[in-house]
Amino acid sequence: MRLPRAGFDWYSAAMTDCIARVAVAAPLHSLFDYSIPAGMRLGVGVRVRVSFGRTRVIGLVVAVADGSDCAASRIKPVEAVLDDEPLLGQSDLDFLTWAAGYYHHPVGEVVMAALPLRLRKAESAALPGEAGWMLSSAGALQAAAPPIRAPRQAEVLRWLESRPGGAASQVHLRSALPESAATLRTLHKRGWVMQTLLDARPDPLLLDSPGLVLNEEQSAVLTALRDAVGGFSVALIDGVTGSGKTEVYLQLAAEVLRQGRSVLVLVPEISLTPQLFERFQQRLGETVRMMHSGLSEAEREHTWHRLHRGLSRVLLGTRSSIFTPVADLGLVLVDEEHDPSFKQTDGFRYSARDLAIVRGQRAGCPVVLGSATPSLESLRNAATGRYRHLRLDSRAGGALSPHVDLLDIRDQPLQCGMSQPLLDRVAAVLAAGEQVMLFLNRRGFAPVLSCFSCGWLSDCPRCDARQTVHRGHGLLWCHHCGAQRRVPKACPACGAHDLHPLGQGTEQLEEFLAERFAGYPLIRLDRDAVARKGALQAQLERLHAAEAAILVGTQMLAKGHHFPRVTLVGVLDADGGLYSADFRATERMAQLLVQVAGRAGRGDRPGRVLIQTRYPGHPLLQTLVRRGYRAFADAALDERRSARLPPFSHQALLRADATRLEAAQVFVERLAGAVREVGGSGVELWGPVPAPMTRRAGRHRVHLLFQSTQRDALHGLLRRLPGLAGELPESKRVRWSLDVDPVDLF
Ligand code: ADP
Ligand code: ZN
Ligand code: ZN
Repeated sequence: MRLPRAGFDWYSAAMTDCIARVAVAAPLHSLFDYSIPAGMRLGVGVRVRVSFGRTRVIGLVVAVADGSDCAASRIKPVEAVLDDEPLLGQSDLDFLTWAAGYYHHPVGEVVMAALPLRLRKAESAALPGEAGWMLSSAGALQAAAPPIRAPRQAEVLRWLESRPGGAASQVHLRSALPESAATLRTLHKRGWVMQTLLDARPDPLLLDSPGLVLNEEQSAVLTALRDAVGGFSVALIDGVTGSGKTEVYLQLAAEVLRQGRSVLVLVPEISLTPQLFERFQQRLGETVRMMHSGLSEAEREHTWHRLHRGLSRVLLGTRSSIFTPVADLGLVLVDEEHDPSFKQTDGFRYSARDLAIVRGQRAGCPVVLGSATPSLESLRNAATGRYRHLRLDSRAGGALSPHVDLLDIRDQPLQCGMSQPLLDRVAAVLAAGEQVMLFLNRRGFAPVLSCFSCGWLSDCPRCDARQTVHRGHGLLWCHHCGAQRRVPKACPACGAHDLHPLGQGTEQLEEFLAERFAGYPLIRLDRDAVARKGALQAQLERLHAAEAAILVGTQMLAKGHHFPRVTLVGVLDADGGLYSADFRATERMAQLLVQVAGRAGRGDRPGRVLIQTRYPGHPLLQTLVRRGYRAFADAALDERRSARLPPFSHQALLRADATRLEAAQVFVERLAGAVREVGGSGVELWGPVPAPMTRRAGRHRVHLLFQSTQRDALHGLLRRLPGLAGELPESKRVRWSLDVDPVDLF
């Protein structure tokens, strides 16, 4: 059991008439005051039991004050203190309350969400043992002379034997040997491995691993970052794919660990982090832990405890990891900082990338954002000097940059979305024993099913959208609300047997290519194809083992993986992002294209990228292809500046929905009226306007957009919204939410 941290103040009623300000998970925008009874010892960051309305709840003490604004008669006492050491430190609490204020989300919900589920209830905060596996003595014998006929069993036995004490945590085992679940069961039945609980020792740190010898550019970047360790600052590493950013992260992280502090690394999508995780663990040791939605609650809780207590020192995780109270935080890294998945788009709508900056500020440590295609926001912050701008312009391993061309398909007949020149290139590359990657950002078989007799379309019954044909599952499936039905045999409207899929998705492309290029290994990477656990790893292994092969996929191709043998990248359709209602669509498209292109030509052979388009003259597309991402970003920023769009202004989006369109419309109209009356000077109001997809999951949606060049003016107005909305009788018939710095306007 650890002693309370230095600097942790205990209060008791003997000192003064103390009031505990408590965060309670309730949809209310304030903390609640309770008196501290005589003799009770309690500090900031501990959980307490309090009465709340008619019930009793568990809350967390966020502050202790001398007095309260509430009438003394209304203040109830704290009933019990649950912890004898704080679960969240002062800087964690400052950070969480700031986040709640900035995103206008109930503070109690934000604070309580930073705890593992069990600790939001009255459960003990003692560190539970971690589930693991260990070799039995019979197993140890087997590991020395492994069963030759069962290579998988041998692999698990040998791996366990290589661990200290012949034991390893379940999480570690699963990340090292992702396909081992069935094998473990067999080994368990044979009595060769046992389940065990590992105790709470600090993970060993691996600090002497030298890493690669950095090239000049990398050294310069690392030196700049090293100088910043020990205080708050923000740096943007703007480095092309393969320029060695990750290597720089690793060496910087090692430096921070050597100083006895911890590292938080935020990454976009978990399905793709095993490779990165392995790389971190190999370099820094088992002190690297992972946090993502694929873990069980028990595993998450365990990881939380370990980081909170400083038993583990590196947390690699997806966006919600930003709330983990990592002890002695010394560095926050955000990899692929441009990725939209850092923004949570429902409930508490925060941006983990933006919060990383605040987290670093509160913890007094550097924040490093990295990307090959930085967001326009971050580039703007770098240009104004708020972030240090560090560049890596050449590929670290000496690989050549790909050559990019546009392929005008206006007058081209297409076969399954592919033009003849592209098909010819694919054939040539395969014949040369090399690999091809085809990017189509649409999963499923076809985006719509149509009846050629009567014109029926597979509309979603609950959304203003079409249901996608998923032939593998035999389903029509809405990607917006999840509504499904069997693919009908005959037209539901006229009964004709004349139904045809229109357009293509990856499933169809795979089928087409399998026939057209029979005999070559064909691998599909999209959410459906890798839904099964371990499927992604298996697909990647197949690809790495193959010579000539075809890889088909969605934006999943753009994330984290490197395909060294790919020498041709074909982009089937770049046009979706060019003329969209969403002003960020071109930025997204450019990032995707560059990220996908960057996966090729890793080895000694240069890659080639062919982008099919119907708008070869589009100025931003031209700039991107001819002059690269940075020139594109400059041009796109110019457009944003003249339109006064972010990052040259700040936005917040109010979304209201109701079962009837009229109800949402009237509510937003009245609210806009009330807002205009109280007059937020310097804040523009746009709306009410119907959402781009007005009906979604059976509800009608209406938007009100707030925009201002002054953040303070905007937030001053936003703070008044709950009050103004509450006064409107129409608010009872709608649901509404506020999205600060929205990343999409849907
Ligand atoms: P990024 O994160 O920018 O995509 P990585 O750090 O993954 O780049 O590096 C790309 C490849 O180059 C990796 O295979 C890595 O091992 C290699 N690499 C990185 N830095 C060096 C270096 N200094 N010397 C040799 N190879 C390097
Ligand atoms: Zn029909
Ligand atoms: Zn739907």
